[in-house]
Amino acid sequence: MAAMTSTARPHLNRRLAEFGTTIFAEMSALAQSTGSINLGQGFPDTDGPEEIREAAVRALRDGRGNQYPPGPGVPELRTAVAAHQLRRYGLSYDPDTEVLVTAGATEAIAASLLALLEPGDEVVALEPYYDSYAASIAMAGGRRVPVTLRPHDGAFRLDLDELRAAVTDRTRLLLLNTPHNPTGTVLTRAELAAVAELAVERNLLVVTDEVYEHLVFDDAEHIPLATFPGMRERTVTIGSAGKTYSFTGWKVGWVTAAPELVSAVRSAKQFLTYVASGPFQYAVAEALALPDSYLDDFRRDMLARRDILAEGLTAAGFAVFRPAGTYFITTDISPLGEKDGFAFCRSLPERAGVVAIPNAVFYDDRAAGAPYVRFAFCKRKGVIEAAIERLSELRKR
Ligand code: PMP
Ligand code: GLN
Repeated sequence: MAAMTSTARPHLNRRLAEFGTTIFAEMSALAQSTGSINLGQGFPDTDGPEEIREAAVRALRDGRGNQYPPGPGVPELRTAVAAHQLRRYGLSYDPDTEVLVTAGATEAIAASLLALLEPGDEVVALEPYYDSYAASIAMAGGRRVPVTLRPHDGAFRLDLDELRAAVTDRTRLLLLNTPHNPTGTVLTRAELAAVAELAVERNLLVVTDEVYEHLVFDDAEHIPLATFPGMRERTVTIGSAGKTYSFTGWKVGWVTAAPELVSAVRSAKQFLTYVASGPFQYAVAEALALPDSYLDDFRRDMLARRDILAEGLTAAGFAVFRPAGTYFITTDISPLGEKDGFAFCRSLPERAGVVAIPNAVFYDDRAAGAPYVRFAFCKRKGVIEAAIERLSELRKR
C-alpha cells in the first residue's frame, strides 16, 4: 500500500509509483487554502533561539559557508556533533571519520539506505513508519517489512516476538525510530537491549532515527541504540537540528557511525546534494554548544503544550495516546463515531477549521491505521487552545 496519497503520474517509475505527494505537503496546502489551524505538518510556528539566528546571519555576512562547504560538513559542526554525543551519551566519535553532515535527517535516511542496501534486501521498520522511510527503501531497491506497534494500555508498544519473527535471512538492516513519529512511543531500555541483542545475533546493521532525542517527557528516557553492547560498530545514528532547535527550514542533519559506515553513507550523500546549508552549519554548531538548560527549557515548554493539547483532545471526545516523546499526539477517533482517519482529516477543515494527519498513510496495512489521527503540538499555546475550541464543537454537531 502507498505510504502517501497518490495522484496520476504516468512517467513515474515503478519503484516510486505508489508514492504521490507527501501527506505533509497535501495537508499544509489544505490548511492554507482553507485558512485552517495547521496541527498537521510537524514544524514549530515560532523560530528557535534568537542568538542562533544571529549566528546564521553572522556566518552569512562573514562569508562562511556561502560557497560549497566541505563534503563531510564544516569541521566546526562535526566537532560540535561529536561533543554533543559525548556529553549527552558518553558516545565518543571522531569528528573527521565518524561524523557526516547531511541535508536534514531526510537525506541522512536516504543516503544510508542507498549506501547500505543491495536490491532485494529486506529492511525491518516499525509501523507506522515516517513517510520517507518507505520511499527511501524503495529508491534503494529494498523491500520493507513492517513490524506494527500496537495499542496497549494507552500507548503503542513494540512486540519483540513479532520483531524477531520479521527478521529473515534476507534482512539486511533494521530501521528504527525512537522517540517515534507518529505514535510518541519511546523505546525502553529493555526493548532497546532486546533489539540490540537481535541485531548482534543476526548480524544486522541498524539505522536509527533519533531526531526527537531531546523531546522525551515524564519518566521516559532517550537511550541511543549505539550505546548498547555490540552496537556502536553496526549502528548509523541520525540526528537533526530541525526539531531540537526549531529551524526545520535550515535542513541541517547528521550521521554518527563507525568510519566504514560513515564512509559508505558519504559515498551516496555526495551524489544526492553533495553539500547543503553552508552558513546554517556554522549556526547549528553554536546551537549544539548551548548549555543543557536550553534543552531542559525546550522540553519543559513542549511538555506544557502536550498537556494542553492532550487534555483538550480528550475533552473534545478523542481517545488520546499521551506521547512519551516527539511533538505529536496520536488519537483514536472511534469514540467520535468516526472510522476513517483519511475521510475525517479531509473533512476536518470544513467541519472545524483544523488540519491533522491521518496515521493510515504510515501503514502498509491501512485498515490497521484507519482510526488514528495525529495532531502536532509544536505550536503557540494560543493556537493550540483555539484549535481545541474548534474541535470541541465536533461532538455538538
Ligand atoms: N525523521 C523523522 C522521524 C521526522 O519526523 C522527520 C521530520 N522532521 C525527519 C526524519 C526529517 O527531518 P529533517 O527535517 O531534518 O530532514
Ligand atoms: N517530520 C514532519 C512531520 O512528521 C514533516 C516533515 C516533512 O514534511 N517532510 O510532520
